Amino acid sequence: YGDFNQKIDYVFKIVLIGDSAVGKSQLLARFARNEFNLESKATIGVEFQTKTLVIDNKNVKAQIWDTAGRERYRAVTSAYYRGGLRNSGDMLIRTLLYMLIGNKCNLGTLRAVPIEDAQEFAERENLYFMETSALEKTNVESAFMTTLTEIYWIIN
Ligand code: GDP
Ligand code: MG
Repeated sequence: YGDFNQKIDYVFKIVLIGDSAVGKSQLLARFARNEFNLESKATIGVEFQTKTLVIDNKNVKAQIWDTAGRERYRAVTSAYYRGGLRNSGDMLIRTLLYMLIGNKCNLGTLRAVPIEDAQEFAERENLYFMETSALEKTNVESAFMTTLTEIYWIIN
């Protein structure tokens, strides 16, 4: 770990859920390592990556879980709630925030979902919404940072 000596104030978990091939793994690769692979292999099971960043002068470690896309939403969220307490001084706070992401926005006219439909859905369901492109880096940082910052302000 590069952050060996770093004091971590918060660990936030993010779980990427969605149909396979929508770009979950590449969004994560782009955010965590600034990498992108056009021949991305299907994710088997679940894996996570971490990235530590600063929010409000606090060191926040984002632990981002990537899934194979077949998981049932509820099963996944409850599974990731478990664990997380490493020493008795830690406090586990449960809070949920949802961000709807429309990835591959660089594909323009090939889009599967009209932006108005996505916006309408997000408003109705009270979700944050962003269109991203892991390929072109569009809004990737912003989508993760918005999510993490919102979580931070919910619990502070
Ligand atoms: P996952 O199954 O949701 O994890 O999807 P992947 O991250 O494996 O991506 C599936 C395919 O879509 C791969 O070929 C990626 O290179 C491609 N892909 C991912 N993000 C984008 C994007 O923003 N734009 C375009 N054009 N292709 C993307
Ligand atoms: Mg994947």
